[in-house]
Amino acid sequence: MRPFAGLELPPSPGRRPPDPARLDRSVDTLKGVGPRLAASLGALGIATVRDLLLHRPRRYEPPAPVVPIGELWGNQEATIEGEVTGASLRRTRRRNLTILEARVRDETGTVLATWFNQAWLAERLVPGTRVRLRGAIERGSAFSVRAYDLDGEDDLLRVLPVYPASQALPSKRLRDLVELALPEVHDLGDPLPAALRARLRLPLKADALVAVHRPELARQAEQGRRRLAFEELLVLQRGLQARRAAAVAGRAPRLGPPGELIARYRAELPFALTGSQEAAVAEIDRDLDSETPMERLLQGDVGSGKTVVALYALLRAVEGGHQGALMAPTETLAEQHFLTVDRIALALGLRCQLLTSSLPGREHAAARDRIATGEIELVVGTHALIQQDVRFRSLGVAVVDEQHRFGVEQRHALSAASGEVAPHRLHMTATPIPRTLALTVWGDLAVSEIAKPPAGRKPIVTRWITHDRSAEAYRRLAGLLEQGRQAYVVCPLVSASESIEARAAEEEAARLRRAELAAFRVGCLHGKLKAQERRSIMDAFSRHELDVLVATTVIEVGVDVPNATAMVVQEADRFGLAQLHQLRGRVGRGSEQSYCLLVSRPKEELTDAAQERLQALVDSTDGFALAEVDLELRGEGQLLGTRQTGLSDLRFTRLRSDRRLLLRAQGHARRLRDDEGLVALEVERLFGDEVRGLA
Ligand code: ADP
Ligand code: MG
Repeated sequence: MRPFAGLELPPSPGRRPPDPARLDRSVDTLKGVGPRLAASLGALGIATVRDLLLHRPRRYEPPAPVVPIGELWGNQEATIEGEVTGASLRRTRRRNLTILEARVRDETGTVLATWFNQAWLAERLVPGTRVRLRGAIERGSAFSVRAYDLDGEDDLLRVLPVYPASQALPSKRLRDLVELALPEVHDLGDPLPAALRARLRLPLKADALVAVHRPELARQAEQGRRRLAFEELLVLQRGLQARRAAAVAGRAPRLGPPGELIARYRAELPFALTGSQEAAVAEIDRDLDSETPMERLLQGDVGSGKTVVALYALLRAVEGGHQGALMAPTETLAEQHFLTVDRIALALGLRCQLLTSSLPGREHAAARDRIATGEIELVVGTHALIQQDVRFRSLGVAVVDEQHRFGVEQRHALSAASGEVAPHRLHMTATPIPRTLALTVWGDLAVSEIAKPPAGRKPIVTRWITHDRSAEAYRRLAGLLEQGRQAYVVCPLVSASESIEARAAEEEAARLRRAELAAFRVGCLHGKLKAQERRSIMDAFSRHELDVLVATTVIEVGVDVPNATAMVVQEADRFGLAQLHQLRGRVGRGSEQSYCLLVSRPKEELTDAAQERLQALVDSTDGFALAEVDLELRGEGQLLGTRQTGLSDLRFTRLRSDRRLLLRAQGHARRLRDDEGLVALEVERLFGDEVRGLA
C-alpha cells in the first residue's frame, strides 16, 4: 500500500545537516517580529520558530471565482480585483467596533469593501493600491472582506490554509509569519528511521510540512498531514507500550469476590445501581480478582454516577483487609468527596480521613500515623496523599478523580507511596471521549463507561445571551429562586491570578446583593478562602441557608446540590467547551427542570470558535457529542488535557478519521528496533523518566 502516493514534491537540494536546536529560538528572532507580535503569538501558544512551523491549519479554502465588480450579487462568495480609490475608518457607536471602508474600482464598477477591527490596514490602502479581495456582498451593497492580497500577492488564487487565529492575529498574518519560518523547515530533521520511511514511501518530515502550509492542491495538504500524523502516532504508541510494560510490573493484592461489606453498602444506598453502573462494577470486580494491578479508566458524563462506583471499588479494598484512597485534584473537590465517603463510612462503621495540605501540622502528622498503622481504612485527599511522608499500611485500591488534571507523574506516584504492594487503580474522568477512541489513545488503560445517567433526569435547558440582556437573565433567575430553587452564578475566568479572580467574585456577590438579587441570600465561594470557611459555605448552601452561590470555577467539579437548578455563567465565551459542560453539570442533578444561562460579550467580539462552543452547548447536553465538537474545534491533544503527557503533542492527528493510521502505527511501533532512527528520543521527550531505557 502506498498511503502517501501522490505527494510529489521536488527533491531537496543538498544542504547542511538539520539542526533541530535552531528551531527552539524565540519567534522574535524572525525578521519583522517584535515584542508585540511575539506576545500575540504567545497567546496562541506559539513561542518558538518550531511552534510556528507546527501550527496546523484548521482548514483550507479553495480559491473563489474572480468576478467583475459590476456583476457581483448578494451572498455569493467571490474574488474581485481592482484599485483602491479611497479609504476611511469609522467606529460603531453601539458595539464599539472599528470598521475600515475602502472604495475599490475595476472597469465594470465600484464597490465599498469593509473590514472589521483591522484598523492597521488603513495606511496600506492608499489610493492606487492594487488589491485582490475575497468576500461577499452582505447586508445591502457593501463587500465584506474575508481575505485579501495587496500589491500583486497572489495568495487568493491558491488553496489557502486557514489557521487557528485570534483577534490580534488574523489568519492572514499567521500565513505570512509561517511563510517567514518555512525556509527553516529542514532543520526539523526526521525522527523516522530511514528504512521505515523508504519501505512506506513516506516523504521527509520537512516536505510534508511544506505541503501542509503551502499546498498546490488540497489533496497534498491532507497527505502531508497524514505523514505527520503517522509519526505522532508512532511515537505515542511506542511510549504507551513502554509505559504499559512498566505498570504491570508490580503485584497487587488479589481481592476475590465481593462479600458482606459490599452487601451492606448496597443496602445503604437510597437507590439501586443503574445498568451502566452495574456493568462498570462487574468489570472492576473482574480486575480486582487478579494480582495484575487494575489500570481502569471510569468515564461518564458529569452527574452520571461515577462516585458511587468509585466508592464501591474503595470498599472492596477494605473488605479484603486493605485500605482505599481517593485522590482529587482540588481541595474543594476532596472536601466534597470526603463528605460523601465519610457519610457512608460512618454508616458502615469504618474510619475515613481527609488529608489535604491545609490540615494543621499536628493533625496532619497524627493522620499519617493512623494511615501507616492501618487504623484508618479510607483516605480522601489532594496530592498531599502522594507526598513522600505518607505511608499506607496496605493500599489496595487507589481512585484518582478527574485524572486528566494530574500529570502522569502524579498518578503513578500514588503507587510508589504504597511501598511494596502496587494498588489497583481506577481513574475517573468526566471528560468523555468516544469509547473506541479512548481504547486506542489511552492504550494502557481498560475503559468502563457509564453511558446513561440515572433515570428521571430532564435535560438542562441552556440559553446563550449577550451582556446587554443580562438583566433579563437575573430576572428569570429571581423567578426560580422565588419558587424555592437555588442557583449558581459563575464569575468570569480571569487568567491573571487566583486572588484577582477571588476579588472579582467577592465584588460581584456584593453587587448582586445590592442590586438584582437583593431579596435573596447570596454567598460567595472561591479558591482564596480557608478550607474551613469554604466548607461552611458549601454546607450552608446544601442546607438551603443560602439561595445563591456566586463562585469561581472552584465549583467546576464535584459539588452536588440537587435543589440547585439554575446557573448563570458570566463571560461564558472565556471558558472552554469541556469546562462549561462541567460547570453546567452542577445543575440538573435532581428531577426538577434545570436551566443554564450563558452570558457572553457581544457576538462581534467573539472568535468563530467561541461562538461555535456556545452554540454547541445550547444545542446539546450530551457530553459525548460535545466532546466530538471540542475535538473538531481544538484538536485531540488538548481535549485530553494539556498535561496529559504525550497526547498534548498530537497536532496533526485527527483521531476519528485516522483510526486506520493509528492501528498501523501501533503495529509498526511494536516492531521498531531500539537503535532505529530518533523515535526513541522523541518518546523520551514526551514520556520522560517514566519510560527511560524502555522505549
Ligand atoms: P458523577 O460523579 O458522575 O458526576 P455522582 O456520582 O456525583 O456523579 O452522581 C450524581 C448524582 O446522582 C448524585 O446526587 C448521586 O447520589 C445520584 N445517583 C448516583 N447513582 C444513582 C442511581 N443509580 N440512581 C439515582 N441516583 C443516583
Ligand atoms: Mg462527581
